[in-house]
Amino acid sequence: MANEKILLIEDEEPIRDLIKLTLESAGYPNIHEAVNGEDGIKIARQRQPDLILLDLMLPGIDGLSVCRQLKNSEDTRNIPIIMLTAKSEESDVVVGLELGADDYMTKPFSRKILIARVRTQLRKLADHETGDEIRRAGIVINNSTHSAKLNGIELSLTLSEFEMLKLFAAHPGRVYTRNQIIRHIKGDDYPVTERAIDVQIVNLRRKLGEWGANIETVRGVGYRLKQEDFR
Ligand code: CA
Repeated sequence: MANEKILLIEDEEPIRDLIKLTLESAGYPNIHEAVNGEDGIKIARQRQPDLILLDLMLPGIDGLSVCRQLKNSEDTRNIPIIMLTAKSEESDVVVGLELGADDYMTKPFSRKILIARVRTQLRKLADHETGDEIRRAGIVINNSTHSAKLNGIELSLTLSEFEMLKLFAAHPGRVYTRNQIIRHIKGDDYPVTERAIDVQIVNLRRKLGEWGANIETVRGVGYRLKQEDFR
């Protein structure tokens, strides 16, 4: 049984109950609940949960504002946030990810997806001190030598391609917006366009051959590494 504390900020009781039951059955009994953003922020500060599930459509302060406040505040910024959204709120997802949210799920989501996403975020916490090698289904990325191999064969990647592959491989299942990718590979003020990222993704996929299909386009949001293959 896991000790991790999860804070669930969701105003709709049936959804709250369903998520709570699902998490409990997956071995996460320590769940705090908040029915609005104000309480959510308060509980996050007091209880310091290991993960926050945040509904975007909330009465009072909306989910994006909650996300902004949590990610701008010293004592809560490192707590991962998974946004819970409706289909119609997908443009908000990009904003939320850029505010620092770590993932999102579109309602209705299956129990399996919920548990997988929660595990990914909690594992990320635990993974923080892992060494400088990342392995994902045939790919081995070496941080200290800045090299990557696919099935034992050295890949010839540009620095940007390498950094993108590393970013995706470190967090399978997590979606990155084009702006986040730009910031990650170049720092904040490098003049790279979103279109340039699309071009580099095409190149990266091509160099990866069949494996390249693991890098998925998430329409309207960005890119991610498929999660299912690595579990
Ligand atoms: Ca709601």
